[in-house]
Amino acid sequence: MSAEGTEQANPEVVVLDNGVPTAARVYDVMLDGKDNYAIDREVANASLAVMPELKEIAQHNRAILHRVVRHLAGDAGVTQFLDLGSGLPTAANTHEAAQGVNSDARVVYVDIDPIVLAHGRALLADNANTRVITADIRKPQEVLEHPDVQGFIDFDKPVCVMLCGILHHLLDDEDPQGIVDTLREAVPAGSFFFITNFTRLSDAPESEELERVLLSQLGTGRVRTPAELTRFFDGLELLSPGLVPLPLWRPDEIVTDATTVAARFMTGGVARKP
Ligand code: SAM
Repeated sequence: MSAEGTEQANPEVVVLDNGVPTAARVYDVMLDGKDNYAIDREVANASLAVMPELKEIAQHNRAILHRVVRHLAGDAGVTQFLDLGSGLPTAANTHEAAQGVNSDARVVYVDIDPIVLAHGRALLADNANTRVITADIRKPQEVLEHPDVQGFIDFDKPVCVMLCGILHHLLDDEDPQGIVDTLREAVPAGSFFFITNFTRLSDAPESEELERVLLSQLGTGRVRTPAELTRFFDGLELLSPGLVPLPLWRPDEIVTDATTVAARFMTGGVARKP
């Protein structure tokens, strides 16, 4: 960040630092990205002090995203991806994974943080099958009715709805279950839901402590129990191997140890709307 507080990492994008940390930029710190400010690094460091594995966990989250999108764009034949809470464009994004399998695959990135649109516009200017919009998934109907979503996603064909690492930013009174329900009703049979989430571990008190840090510093955070996460898949058919620690979802290589906090703190699953 320059002395004036303007973003310098991408010369095509100038975003003002308003002194408030955001989840997108804190996550960028975890992925060793360059699109973050000192205030974001403070939150990241406070979180890492509680759970040093968070950077490894972020890598696991990006890795499962790739495996899932490759599988759905390939074997499952899904051509439309609605990536909700997509985060800053980072290496190996959803459109790269999907279009690497099927160049016609369409991706709409949705994030509440306008920095995502600013960076996305510059990066995706020449990708005709990808859109980026700024919207709040706590208003799912507005997301669904957004002109770029309506104009780009055919709701008569299966869609993959991605809620990857975002529902743990929503508090219970923001009704994450209601959001999932609205999205489930909006997409046709044969659509898929891909969800990953922070998971409360009864043998790792730091999983609760992290919720306190996120709440106090980022203003948002809710680490849910496996039972709470399972409910998000109500009305859907979970694909094998179910809702599992991220490294265990159809790994590319043999996983030798999935007992660590780094392996288990986030769980994820993919389910099909029957
Ligand atoms: N989905 C990416 C992944 O899993 O690698 C990024 C996850 S990042 C941890 C969470 C993202 O959700 C952030 O970019 C944040 O801005 C976004 N987010 C948080 N609350 C949101 C909301 N209400 N509506 C849309 N996006 C939101």
